[in-house]
Parts: sequence; C-alpha cells; structure tokens
Amino acid sequence: MTNGQPAMIEAQGLSKFYGNFAATRDVTFSIPQGQVAAFLGPNGAGKSTTMKLLTGFLTPSEGIARIGGHDVSTNRMEAAELVGYLPENGPLYQEMTPKGLLRYFGEVRGLGAGQLAERLDFVARRCSLEEVWGKPISKLSRGYRQRVGMAQALLHDPKVLILDEPTSGLDPNQTFQVRELIHDLAKTKTILLSTHILSEVKAVCNRVLLINGGRLVFDGTVDAMAAQEADLEKRFRQLTGGAA
Ligand code: ADP
Repeated sequence: MTNGQPAMIEAQGLSKFYGNFAATRDVTFSIPQGQVAAFLGPNGAGKSTTMKLLTGFLTPSEGIARIGGHDVSTNRMEAAELVGYLPENGPLYQEMTPKGLLRYFGEVRGLGAGQLAERLDFVARRCSLEEVWGKPISKLSRGYRQRVGMAQALLHDPKVLILDEPTSGLDPNQTFQVRELIHDLAKTKTILLSTHILSEVKAVCNRVLLINGGRLVFDGTVDAMAAQEADLEKRFRQLTGGAA
C-alpha cells in the first residue's frame, strides 16, 4: 500500500538479462491506485523492457511484476484483465482494419456483443479513429497507428494503463488530443507512461520514475525532481550523465 491506496503496478527487484547484459537491474517501485507516473530515461535505458516485464510480454530473469496484486508470471489472466498496454511499436496485424482488429481483440477478451459494440464506439470516438475505421492499418500514418494501439489498450476498460510513448509520432494537435485523453483517463485509472517529452511530464503526471543503464536512479514527485520545466531537463541530464 502507498498513500493508503492499494498498489496497482509493482516492480519488485526486476532484472532482465540477455546473456551477461542487464537490460534492467533490480528495478523496484510501486504505483498506487489513481497515480499517473512518468517513466523517463534516455534511449536504451530499459523503459520498454520494464513495461514488457510488467505486462507479461517478457519473463523476468529475477524479481516479480504485479498488477493489482497479481503476479504477472503466475496469475497472468487476472493481471491481463486489469491492464491495457500500448507497446512501443504500435499494433500488429497490419493487414487488418482498426474495426476488424479491435473487434477481434474484444472477442478474444470475451466481451459480449452489446458491450463490445459500446466499447468499439467509445474507442473510435476517443481515439479519433472514425475516418480510418475501415482502412488497412498498413496504410495509416504513424499518428493513426499509434491511436489504434491506444484504442486497443483502452478497449476492455482496464483499471491500469501501461503506455510506451503514447505521443510518439503524433503532430502537435494529435499530441494535445492524446494528452487530454490521458488527463481524462487519469480520473479513474492508474497509469504508467514513458515519454521523451519532459513538458508532457508536467502536463499529465504526478510522479516520476527515472531509469538509466537499467537501474532506477530517481523516484519521486515531479516537483521533487525539479521546480520548473527547464530544471526538469537539467535534472534529467544530471541524473543520466548527459552533458550539463
Ligand atoms: P528503452 O525503452 O529505455 O529505450 P529498452 O528497454 O528498449 O530501452 O532496452 C534496454 C536495453 O536492452 C538496450 O540496451 C537494448 O539494446 C537492450 N535490449 C532490449 N531487448 C533486447 C534483446 N532482445 N536482446 C538483447 N538486448 C536487448
């Protein structure tokens, strides 16, 4: 428990080794219900790896990942029900349309016909997909593909969202829309999102986790990391060994 709220996303000593190389090493944090946490770090720091460990797409070499208290390795179904995941490279099955892909995922998740129709309508609207609803995903822009991935993460109305760079590849208007969406979702959900855009952290997050070289190097509030946005960038460089 943190702040009296149950932990919804927990990394406990998570390490992932590829041979002798540690993509993540002993990463530990706990995100309580209702919190929106930013996952920061330079390229190659271990953000995507940690997110894959938390969503069960990778098995940890050491440690435990829990979603809503369920061990992701041993209680996979329970954890999967609670979490929506936007992977770094967007949706698979490029030959399908957003409509076909999302319907398929809804059916796999066991949503009933009525609920599925309602959820498809909701995600098409909230992720602004109406215009491309019937077009093959392979023909869509990066921004639209990203939003199909977002729709997939939201489809079953999960309590927890793990979003790997949700605004990557979006133009400023689309970025604004996705931020507004995250703001709105934050009222009812627990969110971990990775980003390279530090202004985004101030806009939508109340907690920062900073990873560098596979290790967690900062865990605290946005205000504790830096008072102003410029400071946030300076602190990021200090904590990750970048140029002053
Ligand atoms: P980030 O998301 O912060 O950019 P990643 O989690 O994708 O970082 O990667 C962390 C490190 O692990 C990088 O050095 C990356 O090259 C390495 N890595 C990721 N996946 C593999 C893999 N399958 N095999 C070997 N090394 C990997």
